[in-house]
Amino acid sequence: MGHVLGLKCRECGREYEVAPIYVCEFCFGPLEVAYDYPKIKKVLTRKKIESRPMSLWRYKELLPIDGEPQVGLSSGYTPLVKAGKLARQLGMKELYIKDDTVVHPTLSFKDRVVAVALTKAKEFGFDTVACASTGNLAHSVAAHGARAGFNRFIFIPSTLEKSKIIASLVYNPNLIAVDGSYDDVNRLCSEIANKYNWAFVNINIRPFYAEGSKTQGYEIVEQLGWKAPDNVVVPCASGSLLTKIWKSLLELQKIGLLGDVRTKVFAAQAEGCGPIAEAIKNDTDVIRPVKPDTVAKSLAIGNPADGVYAYQAVKESGGGGEDVTDQEIIDAMKLLAETEGIFAETAGGVTLAAMIKLIEQGKINKDESTVICITGNGLKTQEALLGHLDEEHHIEPKFSAFEKVLKKIEKK
Ligand SMILES: *Cc1c(COP(=O)(O)O)cnc(C)c1O
Ligand SMILES: [Zn+2]
Repeated sequence: MGHVLGLKCRECGREYEVAPIYVCEFCFGPLEVAYDYPKIKKVLTRKKIESRPMSLWRYKELLPIDGEPQVGLSSGYTPLVKAGKLARQLGMKELYIKDDTVVHPTLSFKDRVVAVALTKAKEFGFDTVACASTGNLAHSVAAHGARAGFNRFIFIPSTLEKSKIIASLVYNPNLIAVDGSYDDVNRLCSEIANKYNWAFVNINIRPFYAEGSKTQGYEIVEQLGWKAPDNVVVPCASGSLLTKIWKSLLELQKIGLLGDVRTKVFAAQAEGCGPIAEAIKNDTDVIRPVKPDTVAKSLAIGNPADGVYAYQAVKESGGGGEDVTDQEIIDAMKLLAETEGIFAETAGGVTLAAMIKLIEQGKINKDESTVICITGNGLKTQEALLGHLDEEHHIEPKFSAFEKVLKKIEKK
């Protein structure tokens, strides 16, 4: 196909050939995939995209692979839900939920990035894939990797929710639980990646992996009838997803599939781990690392690799950022479930709660169109809600017992 020109340093602009590398040898800046946009513009039309199967691979010319897709052929193209009931409750005109609680096969947006990373790992000829994960990436690498026939080494903080550990182990990877934070896990993995010739999806394959996040942005635009929303609210861990959603809009504009981009991009984080939101609020591009302490474990990266770039994307777009407390996260998870019937994990609570704050502050205009990116399924982290929900009604198997309870319910 040949739509990729190579890799390019985000800091100094030095160019590299396509290889499993991720930092610039000269300035240690991160490498990013560079594309031949004029060539893509010639071959990729809205019609062509619309005629393809409903997966993230319908945008394959804008993804960093050489041959045909090999992994995650059913991943992506999740619903964009018009959230009428929730919008009315919040006094908003037009609110949409990009619902990545239902990505195939592991129910989080990580299935997008891993589909791309493992296709690339196959092209590079790796037989072993690995990752450092806050939970969702573990599931996705374990599952996609099983199907694609890779050996799998998965590194997680040992404090992860029990349900997230079980949902990794079922795919029978080599699961390494490290006594430390995600940032400790990540540091350890960088050392391991230096010694072993494995495809670490978020280390040496990261430039390719990260590109998979763009598909969430492409889908939003296509599903809105080839229009970009006025606002998009994105949860941030490393900050990669946010930067790639911004990139996806600019790319569609560049290749003529979208008019002028006026979308404002907003970052959502937990108060207990909000280095990116804090930088945005303080208007500084110095990201101060923090020690995470939040229920939103999937977003608990204290030293975010793409924090500076997320900050820049937000500023460039005229957006903003906000952080929310654990209580606000839980309340928003319940609100989303009760109004729209969507059970999101804690990260979804972060995103909705942040949007509500931004609306209250007037930073998001109620009369504009807004998309919130809901990135993972609540069934994965049910512990987060323990003690926060109304109890079930316990009864004996007797009609009279039911009627007694019914009376109580009607009184409420
Ligand atoms: C990984 C993840 C994100 C965002 O991650 P980035 O590192 O910022 O790209 C958002 N939501 C969920 C549920 C995740 O697992
Ligand atoms: Zn450089």
